[in-house]
Order: sequence, then structure tokens, then C-alpha cells
Amino acid sequence: MKAAEIRQTFLKFFESKGHQIVASSPVVPGDDPTLLFTNAGMNQFKDVFLGFDKRAYSRATTSQKCIRAGGKHNDLDNVGYTARHHTFFEMLGNFSFGDYFKHDAISFAWELLTEHFHLPAEKLWVTVYAEDDEAYDIWNKVVGVPAERIVRIGDNKGGRYMSDNFWMMGDTGPCGPCTEIFFDHGPEVAGGPPGSPDEDGDRYIEIWNNVFMQFNRTEDGVMHRLPKPSVDTGMGLERLAAVLQHVHSNYSIDTFVALLEAAKKAVDEAGALNCDAESASLKVIADHIRACSFTIVDGIIPGNEGRGYVLRRIARRAIRHGYKLGARTPFFHKIVGELVTQMGDAYPELRQAQTRVTEVLKQEEERFFQTIANGMEILEAALAKGDAQIDGETAFKLHDTYGFPVDLTADVCRERGVTVDQAGFDAAMTRQREQARAAGKFKMTQGLEYKGAATTFHGYDHLVCETSKVTAVYID
Ligand code: ATP
Ligand code: MG
Ligand code: MG
Ligand code: MG
Repeated sequence: MKAAEIRQTFLKFFESKGHQIVASSPVVPGDDPTLLFTNAGMNQFKDVFLGFDKRAYSRATTSQKCIRAGGKHNDLDNVGYTARHHTFFEMLGNFSFGDYFKHDAISFAWELLTEHFHLPAEKLWVTVYAEDDEAYDIWNKVVGVPAERIVRIGDNKGGRYMSDNFWMMGDTGPCGPCTEIFFDHGPEVAGGPPGSPDEDGDRYIEIWNNVFMQFNRTEDGVMHRLPKPSVDTGMGLERLAAVLQHVHSNYSIDTFVALLEAAKKAVDEAGALNCDAESASLKVIADHIRACSFTIVDGIIPGNEGRGYVLRRIARRAIRHGYKLGARTPFFHKIVGELVTQMGDAYPELRQAQTRVTEVLKQEEERFFQTIANGMEILEAALAKGDAQIDGETAFKLHDTYGFPVDLTADVCRERGVTVDQAGFDAAMTRQREQARAAGKFKMTQGLEYKGAATTFHGYDHLVCETSKVTAVYID
């Protein structure tokens, strides 16, 4: 079953259960300052859950464009390295606004998976929130899942394992205990069952989360009961497609195979000649073209702040991976055409914006390739000295002044059998941060005439300068 058909089957199933099919909202949330990008299907219904907004329906179903590249749910660093995480993905969801609750949500999910998608029941595992006896009993007694495949999991307060059966949209907003459905891809894939110490593998894949929305968490950490218990579910289309297409990786599903081919062709034509079709770098590129394109569709352009900064960071990460494979001229924008072929029917706004998306990415690429060219000149000069190590100051200057990422410096050096003085780089970075902080303090003490309210931007706290994996602020 192709991804497009799976999406349709999901929506039609819930329509047959009295749900209104609602279009995906943009990836850029219209009026929610707590969110960088739409990270779940429930975002567009936040106010309905909170009781501030009323709809003509009490059941809805969507296929939602999501981006998880910042904020509470950030998968950027997983991409290309797990078989199941993307920056951009589609979340299939069904929602009850004070209508049905645990019993129906669980029954619907089971019926769809086992009777319509024909998944073998013995390959499905479920988790429930540790204290949720009600959900446990529905799975065990009503649906008939044996106790050995039902795992009770807490809210991860002790940070025990990764699993977390209390879902929150962000630090504030609607939240509640949840129950999740996992698919066992079989012993040939590494990883343990949910709740086990080695659960972070690709064998037991979380496919569907059913959240029992009951609270609104406010900034002070207080959980307020919602007006009505509700349901919010999310299933990754790409993960379900992998299961239904009998492959172990999201990158092997129909839509991704086509994108990977287009990415390989573009990278090869740009100088890589015949890059490794299995490389993680190609996966990163195929993933990032989706996030970048859909972000631009919704009006974001690469920049140095907020969402534009995240877009720039994702685009440059993809370009860097292309460079690593051997591309020396712009290639990234050339994949947009295939993306439109794959997703333009489901998301016509993508097709409409194709020319703009291509142009914006092309400009960013030309700029970044120029940045790389300038940086390479400096790096070559440093390498020409013949030392066994590039000093931290040079690596830092390349990064800080020329926007030449330190991991690119490290890659080039590795190819030449030279190391990078990482400790020296880190020290230079720390010194610069301290200087910046000192400058900030100075401004504060000088700011006596300033009468306005202080503002702090927290939007991309998680994105700036992650130690040595630096892709921090580019100066161009
Ligand atoms: P994981 O534990 O695998 O990171 P999650 O618990 O963070 O997933 P949820 O917030 O519960 O994910 O989202 C609901 C569903 O969306 C997941 O069950 C999964 O199928 C899908 N999903 C979540 N994150 C991603 C991602 N980065 N790429 C693709 N699909 C995803
Ligand atoms: Mg996650
Ligand atoms: Mg999870
Ligand atoms: Mg989950």
C-alpha cells in the first residue's frame, strides 16, 4: 500500500466513524507564540481542547504536516541515524472533543490496524501510563492483548528510559496520560521492547500514540483539568508505511525511495559522480528537503533569527552533507521537483509554491557554497603549513567569522589525515560566549534609561551552539 493510499484509508476509516476530515494546518502556527513549528496534529485544535473555541463537530481526523526541529520535540540530530525520525513528517490523527474517550479510542485504533491494515496482532505491543488501570483493562480484557505485551510506563520523572507515557505539547498547554502502540519489526533489527534498557532501537517501533487529554499545564507547572476529557492521537504516516510495505526503515518507503534517487542524482551531477546510495548523508538530504520546502511554502525564508534561523540551519546541514558526498555546486533545490511529484497531490500548496521554494533554496545554496569556498581557501592555507593538527583558534575563526561549520573543518581534516584541536576550539567558543555575556551585562547596567519591558527570546534555545556539533550562528 503506497503512502498516499494509507493516508486516505486512515481518513476514510475515521470518517466512517463520524469524524470530520479537516485539512492540515500550516507548519508555521498562526497565533501560538509557544510553538516554533507545528509539532503535532492537535496543535490546530489546542483552543478546542482548552474550551476557548467551538467547532461544528466533536470528532475530527487529519493528516497533519509536522516539523520537529526545535523546542520540546526536537529530532534534528536523530535524522539520518535512526530509521524512524524525520524533521518533517505527516501525523495521522483522530480527535474527540469531549465526545468519546478511552474505550472507543482504543477500539478504533485496534480495529483500523488489525482489520483494515491487517497487521498481525501478535506483532503489536502496547504501553499504558503506569497508573492507568482503565486503559490497561481495555487493552487486556476488551481488546484481548495478552499481559506480556502490555507495558506500564510512568512519566519519566526519574529519567529511567526514554519512554514517556504522559504527553505534553510543550512546557505549557493541553496534556494527559497516553497509551502507545508499537510494532515489532522482528529479531533481525536491533532494539528491545518498550520500557527495556535497549528500547532505543529500530526493532520495536512506536507507531501510534493515543493521548487522553485531561489537563492544561500552565507556566507555573499547575495542571488544570480541561472542561471535558478528550482524545488526541497521532500516528506517523512514514512509520506505518514502512510496516505496511514490509520494510524496516522509513527511508525504504515509496515516497522516500523516489526522493533518495532524486537526491543521489542531484548530488552526483554536482560533482559527487557516484555517491554511496546507502549513505546517511543522502537520507539527511532527502529528509531535509521536505522540512525546508514546507517551511518556505508557509512563508519562512532563511535568516538569522527564529524560524528563519531554523530553516537556514536545516538547509545548510543538508548542503553540508551534499558537500561531504562530493557536491561542489548547488544541488539541493533540484530535488524540489521530485518532492512535488510525491506530495503535490496531497498538499497542493506545495505545487503552487514550487517555483518560489526552488528559488529561495537556490539562493541560500549559492550563498552557502560561497561561504564554503571562502572557508576552504583559509583552511587550505592552514593545511599547507603541514602541521598534524589544525589549531583551535583557526577552526573557531573559520566557524565564527566565516560561517564555515567546524564539523566541515573536521571532515576535510580527517580526509587529509590531520586532526582538529577540539579543546582549543571549545575554549575559544567559551571565551567568546563569556565576552558576549559580559557585554550583555554591561548593557544591562548601562540600561538605566531604558523604560520598556525586558524581553527574552526562548524560541531556539535548544538550537544554538551544541558544544562540538556546532552549527551555531552563521555570519554572512
Ligand atoms: P519517538 O519516541 O519515536 O521519538 P514520540 O513519542 O516523540 O516518538 P509522539 O509525540 O507520541 O512521538 O508523536 C506521535 C507519533 O508521531 C509517533 O508515535 C510516531 O509515529 C510519529 N513521530 C513522532 N516523531 C516523529 C519523527 N520525528 N519522525 C517521524 N514520525 C514521528
Ligand atoms: Mg520523539
Ligand atoms: Mg515515544
Ligand atoms: Mg509517543
